[in-house]
Amino acid sequence: QSRIVLVNRPKAAISPDISSGKGTFLLEKSAPVDKELGKGECLIRTEWVSLDPAMRGWLNATRSYIAPVEINAVMRAGGVGRLVALATDAETTALAQKKGLQVGDWVSTLTGWQEYAKVGLKEVQKIQVSDKISPSYYLGALGMPGQTAYWGLTDVCDIKSGETVVVTGAAGAVGSVACQIAKIKGCRVIAVAGGADKCRWLKEELGVDAALDYKSKDFKKEFRETVGYFDAMFDNVGGEILDFALTRMKKFARIALCGAISAYNDPAPRGLQAYLNLISQCAKIQGFIVFDYAKRYKEADAELASFVNSGQLKIREHRLTGIENCVEGLLGLFEGVNTGKIVVKIGSG
Ligand code: NDP
Repeated sequence: QSRIVLVNRPKAAISPDISSGKGTFLLEKSAPVDKELGKGECLIRTEWVSLDPAMRGWLNATRSYIAPVEINAVMRAGGVGRLVALATDAETTALAQKKGLQVGDWVSTLTGWQEYAKVGLKEVQKIQVSDKISPSYYLGALGMPGQTAYWGLTDVCDIKSGETVVVTGAAGAVGSVACQIAKIKGCRVIAVAGGADKCRWLKEELGVDAALDYKSKDFKKEFRETVGYFDAMFDNVGGEILDFALTRMKKFARIALCGAISAYNDPAPRGLQAYLNLISQCAKIQGFIVFDYAKRYKEADAELASFVNSGQLKIREHRLTGIENCVEGLLGLFEGVNTGKIVVKIGSG
């Protein structure tokens, strides 16, 4: 099988070299498939894998919400695929029955960047695929990014109908879902994204009230004029955009710090200059990690699936094909190549 392993921790940006062993990652084309299943284990043939900005953080040997990926380990990644084998002990069989799982079913789990993944059945979720619902959607709107958008808005920002909500990184996986949930919940939504095409898509297809291009030289002026002052902000990018936004908060504004992609490749990111506004506006700024909502995923699953099935929530994907494109695709996230969720098809099913 083919798989991609971490070989060197990057100091700043990830290296695109996947063949010499001197880059960040190494593509191994004839790695063995471990088919020996211990108690509680199963084997999955991966069809789609996820690329996420958070992966950049998983490469650093620092304290975080999750342990770093170890050197020489397969790169951690969300994936969806088919269940191809199950351990035969009684406990595993009972768990499979409880989850309604059979060999051949579509499942979602942390497969890593590899064609075959041996994982604990406990960590595997059955997914419902249909004409309308591609398995890859479970890496985006119906998976972790969708959950992130949902909880960041409904819990951390606690949005209310009629409020003005700013979403940054708005044309990406999390941001595009956040914009649509905020619209569904009756908010006035201002999306911030890079480039005219993304802004057009957000406005014309996703129905946000306004979309602002942060790369435009008039961005700050447009933000002042369009937003006025906001009640809530769902921030995916951090840095200068967040700092400027701190000057445009209403009293008691809430800011959910979902991500800070502008800082991930920077070994010494610049601090916020405008944070004193938090005092004068009695505002709240709060980081959150989607995994802390795991016990409540089912609530969001039901709502997100109903939004997708009714057509209220539109999904766009940026699809790549071939495991060898994982690293280039991951680098592309930091250049903004994607509109919607970036996924890689690595299987042939
Ligand atoms: P996206 O699909 O949004 O892709 C990343 C996007 O970031 C790019 O398309 C690009 O869009 C934008 N971007 C890249 N560099 C910069 C920059 N310097 N300044 C501003 N924008 C930039 O990724 P996701 O939706 O998967 O993730 C979005 C954010 O959410 C990330 O920060 C991620 O780490 C975070 N996250 C947090 C979670 C949590 O639990 N807290 C869970 C999941 C994700 P553009 O062309 O607009 O610049």
